[in-house]
Amino acid sequence: MLGYPCDNYMIDYQDLSGISYEEPQKYTIDNIAFHEPTSRLIKNEKRGKTMLFKAKIFLEKSCVIQISSTEWNCLPIQDYNKRTYLVRLTSEGFVCGCQGFNEKVDKYESGKSEVVPICSHVLAVKQFCFIQEKNKGKGR
Ligand SMILES: [Zn+2]
Repeated sequence: MLGYPCDNYMIDYQDLSGISYEEPQKYTIDNIAFHEPTSRLIKNEKRGKTMLFKAKIFLEKSCVIQISSTEWNCLPIQDYNKRTYLVRLTSEGFVCGCQGFNEKVDKYESGKSEVVPICSHVLAVKQFCFIQEKNKGKGR
């Protein structure tokens, strides 16, 4: 049974808790990149910086909309892009409908890349879930 949408995700988080930063009073768009596990992993990579930058804009503009317990829409950023992308949580992890993500999946599955597929939409949703989950009960 899939409970709260972030349940699976929090299991990932515990697995990665080897490195720890002091927990902030509250997780925000500004400090999330230092705490959310995937953001932390890609923070020092070139591709990671671009994705984190985009994810931050998605969150700032409230582009991430939860539509079911396992689905989120990532709305377009005005004057920047036009399409809405659907991000889903599956047994394999988060997946996105965008071209970039699917190209990465193809490369990963064919062995051409060892980098686990990620895109700015998935990253924004992961951060969105993390903030929601962690701030639960702390007020908004
Ligand atoms: Zn995407």
